[in-house]
Amino acid sequence: MAPADEPVPSPDVIITGAGVAGSITARRLAETGARVVVLDPAPPFPPNPERRGALYMKPAVNYSPETRFAHEAFLAASAFYSRLQTEHADIDFWSPTGTLSLAWNEREHKRQEKLIARNQWDPAFLQPVSPQKASSLSGLEVTVPGLWFPAGGHLRVDALRQAALTHPLIRVITTTAHAQQAQAGTDRWYVQMPSGDRFQAQTLIFATGAASTQWAPELPLGCIRGQLTTLPATKLTPRVAMAGAGYALPPFGGRVCVGATFDRHSDLEKPDSHSDQANLENLAHWLPSLAEALAKPQAYGNWAGFRSTTPDHMPLAGELNGHYVLAGLGGKGLMYAPLLADHLMALRLGASSPLDEDAAERIAPSRFFQR
Ligand SMILES: Cc1cc2nc3c(=O)[nH]c(=O)nc-3n(C[C@H](O)[C@H](O)[C@H](O)COP(=O)(O)OP(=O)(O)OC[C@H]3O[C@@H](n4cnc5c(N)ncnc54)[C@H](O)[C@@H]3O)c2cc1C
Repeated sequence: MAPADEPVPSPDVIITGAGVAGSITARRLAETGARVVVLDPAPPFPPNPERRGALYMKPAVNYSPETRFAHEAFLAASAFYSRLQTEHADIDFWSPTGTLSLAWNEREHKRQEKLIARNQWDPAFLQPVSPQKASSLSGLEVTVPGLWFPAGGHLRVDALRQAALTHPLIRVITTTAHAQQAQAGTDRWYVQMPSGDRFQAQTLIFATGAASTQWAPELPLGCIRGQLTTLPATKLTPRVAMAGAGYALPPFGGRVCVGATFDRHSDLEKPDSHSDQANLENLAHWLPSLAEALAKPQAYGNWAGFRSTTPDHMPLAGELNGHYVLAGLGGKGLMYAPLLADHLMALRLGASSPLDEDAAERIAPSRFFQR
């Protein structure tokens, strides 16, 4: 990343939003030689250690186009995080522990049985496991079977953003960008900064997560609050990322992480104790052995944020009104972002996308305007 006092070079790309999607897209563009300016009022310097997440997915019973897309995204994300971690050994953000998805109730058990019976899964991607195997993988007492994703794992999300943005061709500017600051020229975009600086670039990408409606009010984007909770690790802690009716992540800095709430009707920006309680009550439903181990009064840590959602639960990545939009990543941005970044990069260059035509149409912003 360019130091703050260096003169700002004229970028090739301006990205508003240095969240999961914006920072990974900036990184992929910079890796191919593009000069990128990223604008965000809350860049991850220093990273918040409480913001954590899992690389997990829930395949459908039949290998639907959506599952195929998620499968490809999952593998792309795992490979990207492993490579980026190797390049930034000093920023510890990725733990490739594998992810264990438990058949925590009867309905999920039947669903998992069907998806195993109906598909031939590559064991390097997904394996059914018995309760015994689930126990030995996780280090916890598990009484139900599950699905094991060896390429999964868990992340310190802000440290991931920091690692992605640490590149000599990326400059991060701490500012909130507003729609009225961006103006289209004949072959470039102009963005006026409150400081008086004016950037121009051929490509403008909006990646502002749940705040994306300001750039694209015509898109049917929703927003759902969530909160995760961290607690001091006890002797009984998960060794792998675990998913069920929520997720539980192995200790980092001596704290396990349990999440996350889906608060459909809340716009509370700060974490609250009610959501911490909800996370622990939920854990007791799907992973009682860990809930019991964590049951004593604890010093909670937490992080709250907002997920950007779409009516069809597919993310949005593509061109809209001459700029690009990357939004609607819902609760799976850590899985989707690296593949979507590569897709946007290909669109910008007119190169061939890692996505086939069908998948590209399913995530295109224009899908909401077609009859
Ligand atoms: C509690 C919780 C737990 C989650 N757990 C997981 C998980 O385990 N696994 C997973 O895959 N996903 C998880 N998610 C979802 C994941 O965080 C999102 O999918 C992901 O962050 C989406 O990336 P994004 O870049 O679109 O949005 P964000 O990461 O939210 O980033 C948006 C960025 O835009 C910036 N911004 C906003 N407005 C402006 C503006 N006007 N100008 C400039 N910048 C602006 C913000 O400051 C922010 O940095 C979780 C979400 C929550 C809330």
